[in-house]
Amino acid sequence: MAVLEVREVTKRYRNGTLANDRLNLAVQPGEIYGLLGPNGAGKTTLVRQVLGLLKPTSGAIHLDGVDIVADPGYARRSIGSLPQSQLNMQGIRLEEWVTGVAQLCGISAASARERTAALVRRLQLEDFARTMMANASGGVRRLAGFAAAIVADPRILILDEPTNDVDPVRRQLLWQFIGELGSRGTTVLLVTHNLAEAERYIDRLAIIDHGRILREGTPSALRRVVSDRLHLAVTAASELAPHPALVPDPLQPGAFSFERSDLSIVVGWLESLRDTGAISDFRIGPPTLDDIYAASLNGAAQEAPA
Ligand code: ADP
Repeated sequence: MAVLEVREVTKRYRNGTLANDRLNLAVQPGEIYGLLGPNGAGKTTLVRQVLGLLKPTSGAIHLDGVDIVADPGYARRSIGSLPQSQLNMQGIRLEEWVTGVAQLCGISAASARERTAALVRRLQLEDFARTMMANASGGVRRLAGFAAAIVADPRILILDEPTNDVDPVRRQLLWQFIGELGSRGTTVLLVTHNLAEAERYIDRLAIIDHGRILREGTPSALRRVVSDRLHLAVTAASELAPHPALVPDPLQPGAFSFERSDLSIVVGWLESLRDTGAISDFRIGPPTLDDIYAASLNGAAQEAPA
């Protein structure tokens, strides 16, 4: 049975905005499921409904088979979450906060302190454990929020851009940690823009735009959708006027995808730019998840033949 099942979920806000439009998805136990989409796609709206904080206009959401539209408290009790914007906490130290969250979840004070200390070590936060949350940097707050989300060992975890503002070393730690949680059986719903980093750890992902799922599948299945395309990374002195054959990557400046059949045209164009010094280098390779994302939003991806 799916841990999370979203069926025909539609959310229309009072001002008329249709934020989710008949969304369907099912997340299996221990799966790391990525939600990807541009700003305003409807990801936060979906997450808030799954957390039981917002009621769908229509449709059903089940968690462990429990109807959480009828029983939102079940969702709040079962899910650990790292929201995109965190509470503005004053007057509390990082380790006190994480320990307090564990105790609120019913864990004894001694065990809460032990769990917090283990997470502080694991996330290399020793230097910040006694830092006041109000004074912590964005990255440290994010890591503390992650620690608070997992300290009570939830079976279901929702992470909204967990690596925002986090430095590269701890980013890596965080992704490995998320991957391990998945292999230990935690079900993870992950909202991220960082496909290049998340790709190794995501089991399946859905690309959302205008409240609808454009595509869903494993990274390798989605890559087959764009098997007729190639990825291009350009190092340019200044911004290029892009060639009409290129689809720009919305997530990475200087990255594009194009049809395999345009390879010689694109290479010819790049070589002439290199001769004039407009670009210093370029690399062409197989398509990335970012290309799938860009092509899906542009309607450029074709279904792979069965
Ligand atoms: P995302 O998380 O993908 O950026 P959101 O779920 O926040 O998308 O927003 C989806 C759409 O719903 C956007 O058009 C946004 O402006 C709108 N929206 C979000 N929250 C509200 C609200 N409380 N009232 C009205 N419209 C909202």
